[in-house]
Amino acid sequence: MIDAIDIVKKFDDFTVLDGVSLNVKKGEIISVIGPSGSGKSTLLRCLNKIEEIDEGVIRIDGEQLSRHNCSKLGMVFQNFNLFPHMSAIENVMEAPVIVKKMGKKEARELAGRMLSDVGLQDKADSYPGQLSGGQKQRVAIARALAMKPEIILFDEPTSALDPELVGEVLGVIKKLAAEHMTMVIVTHEMAFAREISDRVIFMDKGKIVEEGTPKEIFEDPEHPRVQAFLKRMM
Ligand code: ATP
Ligand code: MG
Repeated sequence: MIDAIDIVKKFDDFTVLDGVSLNVKKGEIISVIGPSGSGKSTLLRCLNKIEEIDEGVIRIDGEQLSRHNCSKLGMVFQNFNLFPHMSAIENVMEAPVIVKKMGKKEARELAGRMLSDVGLQDKADSYPGQLSGGQKQRVAIARALAMKPEIILFDEPTSALDPELVGEVLGVIKKLAAEHMTMVIVTHEMAFAREISDRVIFMDKGKIVEEGTPKEIFEDPEHPRVQAFLKRMM
């Protein structure tokens, strides 16, 4: 579904992604872990065309990534990125109306269903300022789902949340996993990554240092940097 080959991304003369290749198959769940500054967010931002790559190729379903097919990828950010002046349902309707030119009535119905799917049918008319962090993140997931993406990229979806709110967001992601949604998840939640992923990727200094099944990475990592990182995280 996604085929990224030898991606290089530089900010001025600083190489943030140094030849990263990643293949994501339909229905696959991939977790990306690694130290701060290793390039995890930048990788997702390149996959979603928020950032332009300097070298390499990204293909979606065999076609080169462009502004025409990048809406096949949904994105959920650490800090929710909701529009504060719009209610929950208006946030979810916005992209179908603006990007897909969907009628408002149809978009509202769709958004209502998406909010129900994340357990927020009763918060449709609340504004982001009236919602908890966990609720805001669930609205953000509903907003991504409303575009019917083929794959959702999550960038640390729970790291801005109070600990007691993490579970409700992870619960929604687990539900999507049970529905076979294709997902790439950058996370610091090691137990979650281990439970949910088909494959775990460890990044450091702009490179993929090691990848494997959760069992391989968490029980028997080969690379000393992965061993040291996991020792600190667990
Ligand atoms: P974290 O775990 O802290 O979120 P990360 O692995 O997501 O880290 P990135 O945000 O991808 O790391 O950043 C990788 C490197 O690129 C960092 O050194 C960062 O300072 C740098 N960087 C990111 N965005 C920019 C930018 N727009 N301009 C310049 N440097 C940037
Ligand atoms: Mg990041």
